[in-house]
Amino acid sequence: MEVPYVNLAAAYRELKPELDEAVQKVIASGSYILGENVAALEDEFSSWLGVAEAVTVNSGTDALYLSLKALGIGDGHEVITVSHTAVNTALAIAKTGAEPVFVDVDADTFCMDPGALAGALSERTRALMPVHLYGHPVDMDPVMDFAAEHGLPVIEDCAQAHGALYRERAVGSIGHAGCFSFYPTKNLGACGDGGAVVTDDAALARKLRSLANCGQGEERYRNEYRGDVSRLDELQAAILREKLKRLDACNRRRREIASYYLEGLSSTGLVLPIEREWGRHVYHLFVVRSGRRDALKTHLERSGVQAMVHYPLPVHLQPAFAEHRSDRLPQTQKLVDEILSLPVYPELSKDQLDHVIGAIGNFQQEH
Ligand SMILES: *Cc1c(COP(=O)(O)O)cnc(C)c1O
Repeated sequence: MEVPYVNLAAAYRELKPELDEAVQKVIASGSYILGENVAALEDEFSSWLGVAEAVTVNSGTDALYLSLKALGIGDGHEVITVSHTAVNTALAIAKTGAEPVFVDVDADTFCMDPGALAGALSERTRALMPVHLYGHPVDMDPVMDFAAEHGLPVIEDCAQAHGALYRERAVGSIGHAGCFSFYPTKNLGACGDGGAVVTDDAALARKLRSLANCGQGEERYRNEYRGDVSRLDELQAAILREKLKRLDACNRRRREIASYYLEGLSSTGLVLPIEREWGRHVYHLFVVRSGRRDALKTHLERSGVQAMVHYPLPVHLQPAFAEHRSDRLPQTQKLVDEILSLPVYPELSKDQLDHVIGAIGNFQQEH
């Protein structure tokens, strides 16, 4: 049996009539940029999260980058984030001209360790960027307390956590801005690139809207800022509106799959993902830890199960961030050799899950 790591074609088949109709309508309408679907998606997505405003942009990376830019962050500034994340988090910071400063993660949640923030603070620090990694929320209260104490804005990287909760609140609604990606494999994914910033700050939203649309103000062809061209298009917005209707059900299905794995893998000796009592995990990824990760990955591949590593090289060890190589991040560096992401998406069948669990059981017996 084959268990691919993702199966976006299967996800399309489930929604084919709705998606085909939505796409056809947009093409026929002749309105492709900043039309009614973008406006409606922004309303629907912000309501779904319980935030006043959503501004769509053309990627999660741009959502992060434009949020920093709108807050005046750039050359000579520092933004504290984690190294154990998609490289995009750090790229967004670097794109403003600011430098990322990396702190270690909590080994149980894989997320920013709030206790490490004080050691990373400098007179150049201008913002904090916690990442709700794999779908589990960061412990936000201590992060927000630290931010308030030092007068710093908090920009949440929610690219992997649409619908995750921290103490009953949606991630993205806690900091000054929440940034989402609609990359195809994310919990809410387009058929192309896309992203959004959500915020309760109307002035920030207005500035973001302008920055994403060339820097144009209320009046056309009059530039307030040197902005970017970073808009979500109508086709993607129409597709995302259909998918947003099913997002709660898809997240519930991801949680069911996770429970099934947690039960089926409980006696295998693998370190399994946890959900803190203050959080609701949306299992963008289901990441286990094993001291024999590479051998397990190879064994799974031979059994037809695709597994992946997110991420094999932490950002501070990437060639592009070579000046950070001396950073000491012991948990980050330890995790990297042990983590393995198992397939987790709504279209997986029970037979496929049993196959994954069986293959891992066989491996543990043989070793
Ligand atoms: C996917 C991702 C991003 C970037 O989103 P794009 O839409 O691909 O630009 C940023 N941060 C994290 C943690 C991500 O997983």
